[in-house]
Amino acid sequence: MDFFAPRMSRFKPSPSQVAAARVRELQAEGRKIIKLTSGEPDFPTPDNAKQAVIDLMERNEIWYTPINGTQAMREAAQLKFRRDHGLEYGLDQITAGSGTKQILFNCLMATVSQGDEVIIPAPYWASYPDMVLLAGGTPVVVSCGQNNQFKMRPEQLEEAITKNTKWLMFSSPSNPTGATYSPVELRALADVLLRHPHVHIVTDDVYEHLIFDGREFATFAQIEPRLYDRTVTCNGVSKAYSMTGWRLGFAGGPKAIIANMSKMQSQSTSGVSAVAQAAAIAAITGPQEIVRERTANLQHRRDILYKKLSAAKGLSCDLPEGAMYIFCSCAGTIGKRTPDGRVIENDTDFTMYLLDSVGVAVVQGVAYGLSPYFRASFVAPEEDLVLGGDLIQQACAALR
Ligand code: PLP
Repeated sequence: MDFFAPRMSRFKPSPSQVAAARVRELQAEGRKIIKLTSGEPDFPTPDNAKQAVIDLMERNEIWYTPINGTQAMREAAQLKFRRDHGLEYGLDQITAGSGTKQILFNCLMATVSQGDEVIIPAPYWASYPDMVLLAGGTPVVVSCGQNNQFKMRPEQLEEAITKNTKWLMFSSPSNPTGATYSPVELRALADVLLRHPHVHIVTDDVYEHLIFDGREFATFAQIEPRLYDRTVTCNGVSKAYSMTGWRLGFAGGPKAIIANMSKMQSQSTSGVSAVAQAAAIAAITGPQEIVRERTANLQHRRDILYKKLSAAKGLSCDLPEGAMYIFCSCAGTIGKRTPDGRVIENDTDFTMYLLDSVGVAVVQGVAYGLSPYFRASFVAPEEDLVLGGDLIQQACAALR
């Protein structure tokens, strides 16, 4: 009998780990690898967040915290929802966790059971379907093509809904495509959801501030107040404030769902570390100018990489509207032969070819539910974006 629980075979570890392992192997052989794989902004933690932690330590206030977050943390999240989206949540409608990831995990674990369906537009963040499977539910993947900028059309949502649909799991801007739904596009999806009152919405707004070219961010509960009672609005400090390592996420939503998410957390990690909450409170409630400056810097780096990838033979991509990634089609390379005679059969072959031949690491599209594509992150030093882009062009030109 297998020692490990059956639930362990229901889901897989992160597929980007396979490429990461190969990168480590090549680096151990002394090869210089240009990594266009980063999933985290590279700016320092804001000074006011660091100072808040120093003050906390000096006051010696590092104890267990309430499971749903300190009152000050929930007040900060309350202020954020009000300030940025005009959304009103009571303090008993807010909970904090160790990252947006834990918040999403709690939400699914607390509500999804066998037979429940969760609609996930693809390309998706690789964790979504596996979290649903781990919770015992069924991911219903809706493929959203490049011809509609990787966005789900209202009729696709309508078609995916069944009597068993429990959640729409949604994110904008999206990892891996940067697809960003405008208020009008969100409105059209909201109209479908209004016709199906049994469907709840869990929206992962973690990339909210990484949005380019003056676009406007919108979230479901804000766009359609009639969805407020069935929407869990999730966010965190990882991407907005470049605070990935602090591990702090939060959600606002219906009281009963939030209470059960918190109950879930009470038997796993308990309350988030006091230092992470102190840092997050300062970042959320402090001056927000830093967020705009950093987004402008990321937009500049997006443009550098986009220009390079657009000029590569066999690749085709659109300018991402948000997040930190370009999701690029490598359809024009499929069936081609590498200089050492191997045939590129899929996006995994293509990304491995880039890594082995020119030492550039990107992540294969299959990890995000759509092929043949790859995800290239533009969170890298500018010189790496230029050199990495040139090397990708060279590798593509060498295919026959
Ligand atoms: N949601 C999406 C779409 C992400 O891409 C990521 C991280 O890459 C997360 C959530 C995780 O966020 P956090 O660091 O707050 O757990």
